[in-house]
Amino acid sequence: MSETPGYDRDNVFARILRDEIPSDRVYEDGEFIAFRDINPAAPTHIVLIPRGEPPAGPAGLDDGDAGWAGRMFVVASRIAAQEGLAEGGYRLVVNNGPDAGQEVPHLHMHILGGAGLGPIA
Ligand code: 5GP
Repeated sequence: MSETPGYDRDNVFARILRDEIPSDRVYEDGEFIAFRDINPAAPTHIVLIPRGEPPAGPAGLDDGDAGWAGRMFVVASRIAAQEGLAEGGYRLVVNNGPDAGQEVPHLHMHILGGAGLGPIA
């Protein structure tokens, strides 16, 4: 992944990546880390983030990002299975911008499950 112009190096997820803020990591590889959300919206709520300096959200993606962005789905489904969510099901959420309530400007995917989640919005 190339560096994203304007990337905020002090955002919370950048600081978690640098271990300046502790996190309960459940997965990591050379491209991604995943950790439990500090304010869970479901019994299981994990945040999956790419390492490096990705765009703030999916609106910043272009064709050159298709490889790692696609692999995020593969990794998310692997983590969901690891967390025991494969049978009951789960929801993957990617927020973009204020109307979605996005707080952290480092592209990320929420993995939610462990109970019936109800309607999307
Ligand atoms: P967004 O709203 O940007 O899509 O999601 C950001 C998520 O990051 C929120 O669900 C929020 O609870 C979570 N979050 C914010 N700060 C921290 C933190 O310091 N540690 C952890 N584990 N999660 C955080």
